[in-house]
Amino acid sequence: MPHELSKAYDPTAIEDHWAEYWVRENLFSQPTPAACSGEKAFTVLLPPPNVTGNLHMGHMFEHGESDILVRWRRMCGDRVLWIPGTDHAGIATQMLVERKLATEGTSRQELGREAFVERVWEWRRHYGGAILGQMKRLGASVDWQREYFTMDDNLSVAVREAFVRLYEQELIYRGAYIVNWCPSCQTAISDLEVVHSEQKGHLWEIRYPVIGPAGGGVSDEFLTVATTRPETMLGDTAVAIHPEDERYLHLRGKKLRLPLMGREIPIVLDEWVSRDFGTGAVKVTPAHDPNDFALGQRHNLPSINLMDDTGHINSEGGAYAGLDRYVARKRVVADLEEQGLLGSIKDHTNNVGHCDRCKTVVEPRLSTQWFIKIQPLADKAIAAVKPGPDGKKAIRILPEQYEKVYLDWMTNIHDWCISRQLWWGHRIPAWHCAACHKMTVARVDPTACAHCGAATLTQETDVLDTWFSSGLLPVSVLGWPHIDANTKAAFEAFYPTSLLVTGFDILFFWVARMIMFGCWFSPDVPKPDGSTRELQDAVPFREVYIHALVRDANREKMSKTKGNVVDPIEIVKQYGTDAVRFTLASMASPGTDIAFNIARTDGYRAFANKIWNAARFIFMNVDRAAELGIRVDPAVLGGMPVVAADAPIEARWIVAELNDTAAQMNASLAEYRFDEAANTIYQFFWGSFCDWYLEIVKLRLDFGGTLVTNGTEGQIERDLEETRATLTTLVSVFEASLRLLSPIMPFITEELWHAVYDGMPPAKSIALARFPVPTAKADEQVIADISLLQSLITEIRAVRKEAGVEEKATVPVEVRTDANLRQLAVENRDIIEKLARVSEVRFVEAITPGLSKHSTASFDVAVVYERTIDVAAERERLTKDIVRYEKGLTSAQRQLGNEAFLAKAPANVVDGLKKQEAETRQLLEKARAALNSLPPEA
Ligand SMILES: [Zn+2]
Ligand SMILES: [Zn+2]
Repeated sequence: MPHELSKAYDPTAIEDHWAEYWVRENLFSQPTPAACSGEKAFTVLLPPPNVTGNLHMGHMFEHGESDILVRWRRMCGDRVLWIPGTDHAGIATQMLVERKLATEGTSRQELGREAFVERVWEWRRHYGGAILGQMKRLGASVDWQREYFTMDDNLSVAVREAFVRLYEQELIYRGAYIVNWCPSCQTAISDLEVVHSEQKGHLWEIRYPVIGPAGGGVSDEFLTVATTRPETMLGDTAVAIHPEDERYLHLRGKKLRLPLMGREIPIVLDEWVSRDFGTGAVKVTPAHDPNDFALGQRHNLPSINLMDDTGHINSEGGAYAGLDRYVARKRVVADLEEQGLLGSIKDHTNNVGHCDRCKTVVEPRLSTQWFIKIQPLADKAIAAVKPGPDGKKAIRILPEQYEKVYLDWMTNIHDWCISRQLWWGHRIPAWHCAACHKMTVARVDPTACAHCGAATLTQETDVLDTWFSSGLLPVSVLGWPHIDANTKAAFEAFYPTSLLVTGFDILFFWVARMIMFGCWFSPDVPKPDGSTRELQDAVPFREVYIHALVRDANREKMSKTKGNVVDPIEIVKQYGTDAVRFTLASMASPGTDIAFNIARTDGYRAFANKIWNAARFIFMNVDRAAELGIRVDPAVLGGMPVVAADAPIEARWIVAELNDTAAQMNASLAEYRFDEAANTIYQFFWGSFCDWYLEIVKLRLDFGGTLVTNGTEGQIERDLEETRATLTTLVSVFEASLRLLSPIMPFITEELWHAVYDGMPPAKSIALARFPVPTAKADEQVIADISLLQSLITEIRAVRKEAGVEEKATVPVEVRTDANLRQLAVENRDIIEKLARVSEVRFVEAITPGLSKHSTASFDVAVVYERTIDVAAERERLTKDIVRYEKGLTSAQRQLGNEAFLAKAPANVVDGLKKQEAETRQLLEKARAALNSLPPEA
């Protein structure tokens, strides 16, 4: 049956088809085995994109890197599981649905909590799967049967269990604390969700009257403080000075009259105060500044919370109650000025925190929140990353620089505020009792207070921080907290997961929390032999790989405001998924950001085209051979091709190169060197396979008259056998190349692989075939031989061009060389003649003077062509060459003369350099001689 492959490569046509096929056939689903056999497990958890999300370049890159590794490990025979899902993304989703309600002229408050939450679910059912649909289209080889949503029932059970357990262990508490409050989102947000940016503002000086000694009357003295947020003075409860500040020694023990409010406030002494900043006197507003809060705690100062949830002054603000914080600021400043209490006003650049979601200026504000006591969770999470007693780390974080970042953060970590004042999310399972005012925290909704039995219970209105649920994913997706046979089997097969590929931006948000929770909860699930899970096996993953960022072609961060965002879906439509994946992989070296350049994608689209055309050429020959009864036995495909010792040179060579390529790719992927893996297979396929091997093979595949009609029967028999051997090597090397390419370019390789097998492949997908592993040490001799022939042919082509030989003309060449190359050239005369369009190779002792010639360290070659050389041009060329050689020589000599370099450089590098130096010296001498031998210009 002749192969049918459309003439032009059209990625959209094939990609849609296979993307749909992979999902429909459940190709990447990995059921939990009842018992584990010897194969290695490779489990990866997808960082769950927000349910509100659309795929951006960062996702495409992250999913691409994971998919390459996952497909590679799967093809290596590992038991591979990649688990997908989406995150309910509390704030983001609630904001989105609230905006929608606003367009309908209603609000969440109007709907009420229950109806609002129902609306969010409805929204999720309609729109929530967008990003997963895009992942399917891009071919992510995840197990779709295990897809989860962080609000699913089973995952919610895990969230509840974790909360109740930590509460029972007295690791969760409720307390007043300064939080970052977003007046627009109306919730506390974590430090990590606050983005700081410089903003022009003012520094206002305010004069606080000192209360005189007798009868509490006001003296004529003032203490001046400075602030960037004057409205907060309404909540001041002290002014602090440094204990050794000599300017203020006389004010110790005195009190001040707070302007506008009239309250008496003390002057306190605290070493935290910087004498050099401002006036050295600091107003203290414990309820609205984290440093003041800490200071207030040290001095037992009251905290006055001035603002409500929306950033308006509340009744604590006296005459200013009801004003927005910025209106209040203006009013306060005006009133102070009127009373003569305003000092100087200076321009001041402030580092202001904004809400990451809505960009509103964050208000530090005292509120009652739920917290996780971070010890001893953090200690375990530190131990998991540091080397243990055996010197081994339970978790490796790569690139290594991030390990220190992680440990620094974990060492200085604060208690984690886990409550959010939202409606969308896991509601905190705590009930307040109206009778005894105590709290009941329970796994099952209680009907009566656990302390006094009263039925007057109301549930806490806060929900949990989204990262609380996603932090549990490594254990919850495998069945925790239900410890039954299924969970045990799943943990045995897949826990700890092998690898997490993620971005630096969620190292603390998510990675750190998974480590804390994983180490804390997974010991519930015993090891198969019944023993307890120690830290080494309690960690949620063995390795974390922090990927780079994708930037635009000018290395600028992509952002909507800059308008330089590249939409992956658009690029994919234009170039095909394979070309985009290949672009990203080819640029992905650890620790280096990617400057995404469309020109490169264009280049890799051409690469895909090259693969397609190679397939068409091969299939055409396979079909022609089939007409003569010559067939490639499909049984020889699928492994690493082998060739007979007496096979033609190009067959032995391409198999040697293939072995080398497979070895390099396996090594590169093991080290996350996606760039090296991509470039290795690119060089092999385009450079070696297409440019050289296919060109030589064309010589061997002669289906013209000679094969069948001429020659004796024995001759025909031999020819048929040789053709079969050539075809077998050709097809099997091509098939193996497809398998090497498949993790990076899954679509085109799937299409062509099915075609290689004429639609009857040995497996449902190339993704289930084996990744090539080298079977033999590459034959270095044949690689060196071909390399010499290539260099000879390349030089002949170059010299032909310079001599102005017509493209199609065949010409004789003169070659001066040693016996070794001479023999090689004689044996492979046909290759040289075909690939360099040579009519005759003449071996000479010296090149005939006057011929256009090229020299290398191994040979001189010239074309015999009557066109006289252009002396001036030749002189210019040689002069340029001489300059280049001289430079190269100087640089090599400088390096070889550098003791420090020689002491450090590996021996093979030094040897290579020496060899290079000798060769350059030879070339230089030859070029100088050639220049001298040029006839004088007319
Ligand atoms: Zn906000
Ligand atoms: Zn009670």
